Amino acid sequence: MAERLQKGEKILRGIAVSDGVCRGKILVLHRARHIIARREISAGEVAGETGRFEKSLVQTRQQILEVQRKVVENLGAKEADIFEAHLLMLEDHALVGEVIRLIKEEKVNAEYAFHTVAERYAEALLAANDEYLRERATDMRDLTSRVLDNLLEVKDAFDLHHIAEPCILISHDLSPSATAQLNKKFVLGFTTDIGGKTSHTAIMARSLGIPAVVGLQTASQELDSGDYALLDGYNGAIVVNPTDQTLFEYGQLLRRKASLEEKLHEIQQQPAVTLDGKAIHLSANIEDAADIESVLAHGAEGVGLFRTEYLFINRDRLPTEEEQYQAYRKAATALKPQPVIIRTLDLGGDKFASHLQLAPEVNPFLGWRAIRFCLAQPELFRAQLRAILRASAEGNVKMMYPMISGLDELKQANAIVEKCKAELRAENVPFDDKIEIGVMIEIPSAALIADALAAQSKFFSIGSNDLIQYTLAADRTNEKVSHLYEPTHPAIIRLIKLTVDAAHRHGIKANVCGEIAGDPVLAPLLIGLGVDELSTAPTVVAQVKYMIRRLKLTEARELANFALQCESPSEIYVRCQTFAREAAPSLFENKT
Ligand code: PEP
Ligand code: MG
Repeated sequence: MAERLQKGEKILRGIAVSDGVCRGKILVLHRARHIIARREISAGEVAGETGRFEKSLVQTRQQILEVQRKVVENLGAKEADIFEAHLLMLEDHALVGEVIRLIKEEKVNAEYAFHTVAERYAEALLAANDEYLRERATDMRDLTSRVLDNLLEVKDAFDLHHIAEPCILISHDLSPSATAQLNKKFVLGFTTDIGGKTSHTAIMARSLGIPAVVGLQTASQELDSGDYALLDGYNGAIVVNPTDQTLFEYGQLLRRKASLEEKLHEIQQQPAVTLDGKAIHLSANIEDAADIESVLAHGAEGVGLFRTEYLFINRDRLPTEEEQYQAYRKAATALKPQPVIIRTLDLGGDKFASHLQLAPEVNPFLGWRAIRFCLAQPELFRAQLRAILRASAEGNVKMMYPMISGLDELKQANAIVEKCKAELRAENVPFDDKIEIGVMIEIPSAALIADALAAQSKFFSIGSNDLIQYTLAADRTNEKVSHLYEPTHPAIIRLIKLTVDAAHRHGIKANVCGEIAGDPVLAPLLIGLGVDELSTAPTVVAQVKYMIRRLKLTEARELANFALQCESPSEIYVRCQTFAREAAPSLFENKT
């Protein structure tokens, strides 16, 4: 799309992470949070500062009442209850009185005084013995940020899940948990200033099927709510106040999109077989049992990765074994006899369950994440394993462990599974005693000892999202190093080949469930490297299937042989791109 800077039109470019185009009003939220600085004030400034504080309380009250009204309209009265607590806190005389006393006696600015007192309240609530009171600490902090937004004149601050009008969200950042709560009816697409293509926020956007662009750097500061914009998730751009010519060009793009969708629809329920007869198992990644509908609708053969973390986040306590069992069972029965590979909990990294209140880590991706966390929390792990085992009686359930770095972790996890099996046996609870247990290969050490791991597991699933970040030391969520995050780096290709060969030597299958499996440019390379199964976001299954049905295994192998001998990531990528564009040009008509 031509870069055009006529008066009023403004184009910002970032990293395209989720296909599609949408148009609508912009809603800017979560500007980078201001630092609450302490500022000494003079005696003459006290009245002004208390006045500012009181005004912010009035503004906050009006905003809460307004959001409450919209929530009642759109979601019902029960959902709006939370705001009653906020209003009560806002009217707490002790709190308000203490802030004013601090401003007067210590002669400090209003935001500092309010933040200090509100934080003290939140801490006291958190320390309470009563669970109800502890939960109120979150309300206190929500309210604190609203008041601070008003004091600091941060525009348009509000709760993400209470958006009540269709819009394009512009945010500094969005956590995976916040993204999971987006209401597709109201959020047409979103952008963030930071982030990478394989962050869990980006993965969630693809899973929701909404266009998204990340790494826009300053968009949340430059753009204003209410402006009209066009978001291009294919090419990673947001066009604010688009001209008629731009709208016309995008109209054409939408027509091409519709024609591609028709083609994809035709092959959706066809098998994923290459032109020379090689069948590739093509499954889908899900984050919630409710995603099964999308799995079936998009023609995937089962689930290759059930990310169970989302059962644990966006809630105020751990899910029980029974709740987990119901979720896993739902997926297993709906997809039977197709397999459902349930991955054990992968909390940490960029996914956190706030109710666990874990101390922040300096390097969360290298820290207490996934299997490391589960092995250290045997009770939590046990509940999940029992739930998975119980669900295995109801369908074709398999299980895999994330972030295995060595054989000891695999053995420890397997020992806990054996204990759970023994318990269930003793309780006469049915489960599949032969449940297949696989290992995710997403840490370079695991790829390098793949033979040893293959000897003790039933399948491999290559988690390329992490394998790339850990091999190349490039944070998958950091746009500043996204140029180093190269899936076609020779080191990555060799590690994948090593893993696939080790799996095949031991008679087990090697799948890929990272985002490269869903990239039509890279899927042929994976197939050429010998990968047996690909698991992708449901929304891209048809594109990958379309590609598979238009390539020859022999040619994909030639591509892989080239990649294994080439030293240059960009040369390998260009070769993959040429291969893919020649095999299935329609898939790329919307990309520049
Ligand atoms: C991966 O790392 O490639 C993977 C599939 O797991 P996640 O993206 O959840 O870390
Ligand atoms: Mg991973």
